[in-house]
Amino acid sequence: MTEYAGPAAVPVRGAAVPATRFDVVVVGAGPAGSAAALELARAGHRVALVERGAFPGAKNVYGGVVYGRILDELVPRWWEEAPVQRWVTRRQTMLLTPTQALTVDFRTEAWGEPPYNGATTHRAEFDAWLAGKAEAAGAELITSTVVTGLLLDSAGRVSGVRTDRPDGDLGAKVVIACDGVNSFLAKQAGMYPPGQLEHTTLGVKETLALPRETLEERFGVRGRHGVDIEMVGCTRGIPGGGFLYTNLDSVSIGVVLGLEGLGESKIRPEQLIAELKAHPAIAPLVRGGELTEYAAHLIPEGGYRTMPRLTGDGMLVSGDAAAMCLAAGIWLEGVNFAIGSGMYAGRAAAEALSTGDTTAAGLAGYERRLRDSFVLADHRKLAGAPELLLGERMQTKYPAMVCDLVENLFQVNNPAPKPGLRKLARRSARQHGVRLRDLAKDAIAGFRAYG
Ligand code: FAD
Repeated sequence: MTEYAGPAAVPVRGAAVPATRFDVVVVGAGPAGSAAALELARAGHRVALVERGAFPGAKNVYGGVVYGRILDELVPRWWEEAPVQRWVTRRQTMLLTPTQALTVDFRTEAWGEPPYNGATTHRAEFDAWLAGKAEAAGAELITSTVVTGLLLDSAGRVSGVRTDRPDGDLGAKVVIACDGVNSFLAKQAGMYPPGQLEHTTLGVKETLALPRETLEERFGVRGRHGVDIEMVGCTRGIPGGGFLYTNLDSVSIGVVLGLEGLGESKIRPEQLIAELKAHPAIAPLVRGGELTEYAAHLIPEGGYRTMPRLTGDGMLVSGDAAAMCLAAGIWLEGVNFAIGSGMYAGRAAAEALSTGDTTAAGLAGYERRLRDSFVLADHRKLAGAPELLLGERMQTKYPAMVCDLVENLFQVNNPAPKPGLRKLARRSARQHGVRLRDLAKDAIAGFRAYG
């Protein structure tokens, strides 16, 4: 194998027709790529699923929860075979200040039964399982292989990919870029405008091993039930948030941080995780946990307004490569959007192949399917959420204001009588520099996004 010198800046034009030819080459065996390859293989097409890792999921990083409803279409009764750690039956949203915590805590037994809602799962196991499904359906999985660039025919149409293997050009009528955040393939194809990094956050996580009984006692769960905790106010004002998820005998704890804010702050991400683990509301949950993994990865958090062009002549872009991760405060969902978009890309490519038209017009079924489904519907609806949630008021002022309001509400100051809620709310807002006008504006924006 030749040494990989990094992605080329421009596609290779007019390359010789590669000896190895597929109907479709899917780049990246994350959830998006495997879903695309599975659909295409089932439709009887010759498809290559190319992955740079030694196996699918080998290097992939995320927080820990997969929402599997979209899998129902791809792998009926998937819950009987997917490598699940715990079924999420308890969901908490926490507002934190350095010394306070206000928690909305919801639990339901319904999510602990088929067809389930969310599950914690390790990516190395989950990605390998889904790619295995594609392989079993007939896709050709090619691992330890980096796609280094696009091949274009003399008319400028995408005609395959170049890999870092000697004689490693792979010809294809359609290339589906599922190469994750910061997709160089989509950039090379000119589908992204420049300057996407400001819409990117850095996710950093630790896995801490805990004995299973200790974990279940601390989190108040039993059997295979588990907890998903999302947090705001734990990043020292850097736009972002925190998370804590339970696996079978470990927890995943981490922070998500806006890159610009992180750079300006000069704070190191591991410092913020250390502070989170020491927070009075979190420390008792993770005490004694043994660090088994530390990982970091970028997340495309800009949402709908930052998506690239999704369809080109002979090319589709799916999953994080198309900025389809939904990061909207109470929701951090990327895997289900990746699976959904990959599945629709696979279907659209199969349709185009059957008509013999793999130009952008022939592949138009992709965007139609995305528009008609949760993928673009949710993103459109929540288009304003990233801006609202990553703003200064939501990140620092509101958590402190609400925590103080609740602290004062429950503080008993006899012999003084109880102050009214309105008076307390006004006092808290004033104390934290929140103007009622801004509060009303944010409430309307929040209602528009989430209502
Ligand atoms: P990826 O999963 O990134 O897969 C891309 C694949 O392409 C990889 O296997 C990679 O090795 C391969 N690849 C890349 N370039 C090349 C190349 N040139 N040649 C060959 N192969 C290549 N989502 C959730 O749903 N739930 C969560 O709890 C959650 N928490 C998160 C926490 C963190 C810290 C982070 C970083 C993300 C989190 N996400 C979460 C988001 C989620 O991980 C992504 O949205 C999801 O993985 C996107 O899937 P994908 O298939 O599009 O891309």
